[in-house]
Amino acid sequence: MNPSRRTFIKTGAGAIVATALGFDLKVAYAQARELKIARTTQTRSTCPYCSVSCGVIIHTLGDQAKNVTAQVVHVEGDPDHPINRGTLCPKGSSLMQDIMNDRRLLKPAVRRPGSDRFEDISWEQAFSEIARHVKRTRDESFVATDAQGRVVNRCEGIAWNGGCTDTNEFNYLVVKTMRSLGVCYLENQARV
Ligand code: SF4
Repeated sequence: MNPSRRTFIKTGAGAIVATALGFDLKVAYAQARELKIARTTQTRSTCPYCSVSCGVIIHTLGDQAKNVTAQVVHVEGDPDHPINRGTLCPKGSSLMQDIMNDRRLLKPAVRRPGSDRFEDISWEQAFSEIARHVKRTRDESFVATDAQGRVVNRCEGIAWNGGCTDTNEFNYLVVKTMRSLGVCYLENQARV
């Protein structure tokens, strides 16, 4: 192997030698980071992976001009966020790979009874099918009174399980919606 000067300096060995020679690499690293995000638009968001809800800053390029699709170029912890104060765990640090993953699902899919594969459907079709299934299931499983004749008005055929990416606001709407249907098997992951 005959590494180029650039490759050598980029490696840990290069860094060790440079440090041993008295160069302060912190300045170079800081400048490289600044160049990376120099022209980006910063969007504050929340890491979707767990209920700790660390704050992140998503840097995008290309969203200030017309006819340009924004491109995520960097994701980092939000130093002003009270939960994580700029830090991210390894999962959160790899968030850009989740956002830019070409295998990410971007539209609804359904697996029909008896089928061994999912098929893409439109959002309108998904809404329509979900509404139809919810209505039918609720009609079939609604319990107005219990064995003692007491009014309970509950739907026993539907359960809701929320995910860690659900915000407090979303969970508020979920509880309102599910309770209005009479759903009592209801769970979510609180975001603080
Ligand atoms: S960065 Fe790690 S700890 Fe923080 S919300 Fe994401 S997965 Fe959870």
